[in-house]
Amino acid sequence: MKGVFEAENLAINSASPEPDPQKRPASILVHACCGPCSIIPLKTLLKGEAQVSGFFYNPNIHPYSEFKKRLEAVKTLAGYLSVDVICNDDYRPSGFINGMKASVSPGLRYPQKGERCSYCYLVRLEETAKAAKANGFDAFSSSLLYSKYQDHEEVKRLGVDLGEKYGIIFYYEDFRAFWQEGVEESRNMGLYRQKYCGCIYSRLERHSEKNKARKAVAG
Ligand code: SF4
Repeated sequence: MKGVFEAENLAINSASPEPDPQKRPASILVHACCGPCSIIPLKTLLKGEAQVSGFFYNPNIHPYSEFKKRLEAVKTLAGYLSVDVICNDDYRPSGFINGMKASVSPGLRYPQKGERCSYCYLVRLEETAKAAKANGFDAFSSSLLYSKYQDHEEVKRLGVDLGEKYGIIFYYEDFRAFWQEGVEESRNMGLYRQKYCGCIYSRLERHSEKNKARKAVAG
């Protein structure tokens, strides 16, 4: 079984060609990293014939207050779009951090972007693939394919590998072209929009960038 499906003709607005129903999976579980990034993937897939559900599994998010905000945003979006969403709201960040540290190069005090992100994508996509298989979906995908801040090719590579490993289709589509549309829709919906990627390291990096910018302005 080929573990990836690529859509070339995507109907996201009336000017685009209609999707070919023969080329779409009948049911799909879409990993939702947050509310704003899930809008375009979910709305796009809902335009086809597929039964679409969301899946919230993001043990990377730090701290708990942020985790709750993103979880609520995904639930709010699911309400707007009338889609079911399976939520794993069991917050266990230590398992994620320990797993990440074990997966990156030894001897580093601070896991670097790239290496740490590969692990982060892997655990979230793998849980989605397993949940899709266990719940009888034909395919799985991820809102990570929408974000222009993620390593798109790495997400795709991992999705394909996991599709082959678990015997389920990885639905691939490059949703990044609709970045601005997703941003505007999230604002119109009043969804919570986060200021950093998610993990404690990305939060620290964000603070450090802000401090540098402040010092530069202060001269
Ligand atoms: S920067 Fe983002 S993708 Fe990378 S490890 Fe942190 S939360 Fe995950």
